[in-house]
Amino acid sequence: MSESLLIPCPHCAALNRVPADRLNDGGHCGRCKAGLFAGAPVHLTESNFGAHAQRSDLPLLVDFWAPWCGPCRSMAPAFDAAARALEPRMRLGKVNTEEEQALAARFGIRSIPTLILLHQGRELARQAGAMGAEDIQRWALAHLGGR
Ligand code: ZN
Repeated sequence: MSESLLIPCPHCAALNRVPADRLNDGGHCGRCKAGLFAGAPVHLTESNFGAHAQRSDLPLLVDFWAPWCGPCRSMAPAFDAAARALEPRMRLGKVNTEEEQALAARFGIRSIPTLILLHQGRELARQAGAMGAEDIQRWALAHLGGR
């Protein structure tokens, strides 16, 4: 019997139960039928943040950014590439700190870009400053503690 994991849909945030050994098979959301892994960062808002950051069994790597931030915009393609490489081991998501000021305040974001790795509501690591795609992957995997 395979362990099953709760995976929030990247589109509608519905929680889907997926056997751990089926994560690579490209399952679809039971509610909206979207693919459970799009290979791209999820747009995180106050309404879907809890599903991805707390209730999900997947670790969540969040990029806190803003449209006016040059280094954030430069890092975006690297973060997209990291999402393609790191799914389905973890979910990647982006918080626009201009639109989601309450989320930015909750995490005490002082500079952007800031990356925070979360798992079931717990902060595992954070890093301020832009990184390349490979550094993002290395940093995130190093802080998963051998998962
Ligand atoms: Zn869905």
